[in-house]
Amino acid sequence: MNEYDSSRMADLLGDSHEMELVDTPEEADVLLLNTCSIREKAQEKVFHQLGRWNKLKAKNPDLVIGVGGCVASQEGEAIRKRAPQVDMVFGPQTLHRLPQFIDASSNKIPVVDVTFPEIEKFDHLPAPKVEGASAFISVMEGCSKYCTFCVVPYTRGEEVSRPFDDVMVEIHQLADQGVREVNLLGQNVNCYQGQTKDGDIVDLAELISVVADVDGIDRIRFTTSNPLEFTDSLIQAFAEVPELVSHLHLPVQSGSNSILAAMKRGHEVDMYIEKIQRIKQLRPDISISSDFIVGFPGETDQDFEDTMNLIHEIGFDTSFSFVYSSRPGTPAAELEDNTPMDVKKKRLAILQDRIVQNAQQIGRRMVGKTETILVTGVSRKDPGKMMGRSENNRSVYFHNDDQSLIGKFVKIKIEEAFTNSLYGQLLLDEGVF
Ligand code: SAH
Repeated sequence: MNEYDSSRMADLLGDSHEMELVDTPEEADVLLLNTCSIREKAQEKVFHQLGRWNKLKAKNPDLVIGVGGCVASQEGEAIRKRAPQVDMVFGPQTLHRLPQFIDASSNKIPVVDVTFPEIEKFDHLPAPKVEGASAFISVMEGCSKYCTFCVVPYTRGEEVSRPFDDVMVEIHQLADQGVREVNLLGQNVNCYQGQTKDGDIVDLAELISVVADVDGIDRIRFTTSNPLEFTDSLIQAFAEVPELVSHLHLPVQSGSNSILAAMKRGHEVDMYIEKIQRIKQLRPDISISSDFIVGFPGETDQDFEDTMNLIHEIGFDTSFSFVYSSRPGTPAAELEDNTPMDVKKKRLAILQDRIVQNAQQIGRRMVGKTETILVTGVSRKDPGKMMGRSENNRSVYFHNDDQSLIGKFVKIKIEEAFTNSLYGQLLLDEGVF
């Protein structure tokens, strides 16, 4: 989501101020930091970076420095107190006002605007400019689930969906620029409820089927989902829409019912397993990845064991996992937490080790199979090779130097599996499409 927001900021300032991206901070007239506050570590990095930029501002007082994203949203005015070199503080929902903020800053008027003017920003952003065959598109933002560990509802606001017709206009703009794969984004993208011009509501399953009909778009992903409201129609989309990839990222956080309850996730482990089983019946080859939080306050050895059992049962592919990070203002920050950090870190290492083993096994199982790959470019390490992505989002390398393949789908017979990538042979007679 932040990557998408950053690219939209670049598009916007390209249009309004004819700005261009530069390679180093030293060359820049404006420096923007788009921040994340999901865990404490991400937040700390912000002030380290601002410290480095302060030296540049000392040399060039006209340099404009802006902090956007969720740390900005959470800290607001406090950012400028701690780092007075910052000229602009803006939130995820006010980034479309950057042109005005920059004009104000150039006149030495500091700006702090971290309000939530709902979905207004999308009406003020220019058509996206994309490079490459794969693009993100935000379709909803925010979260209304209020899990006890999470800052998102406070920093990004409650769930708001972009109108269906606006999303489709952007999808067509992407397709016109040669995009073949779209990744529909939202903090709980499965809760998408887009209004049409006629006042009807389109859910994510319907959106996916309409996007699949757009000429040129042949691969659809969606990130990230919540097991709640993972509806029957969305499950059915895996049966009905071949463009929807055989990869699902569905965060579960924990395999223990008591921890899920303490997190206020609103479901039990069985519900998660049942949904995955139904999807696997429709797509036996689907790979499932997840997010895990280890060491939530009160997590016992048995709770952790339950998470490991769930990992065993589902056989998750590459996942995101972190030690719980207490976030100011969230209910879980008030909970007693007796588990020592070294125990939490040990649990995380065990979990990650297991997921890596699973991922390697899944990679090895792909050997000998023919995979559809969206070619994204030439290998940086070995210019004799080209690379692309499989449906389950693995990098696949193959020997070839025909640049016209970039942005096209090809069939590759997988021959070797490495830890993070695969190697195979291009099957030209199976087509380039
Ligand atoms: N809305 C989805 C996905 C959220 S993505 C869901 O709730 O399942 C954000 C991810 O960041 C979460 O899945 C969680 O694993 C992680 N995260 C959020 N708050 C965290 C915290 N306080 N400590 C550690 N990880 C956290």
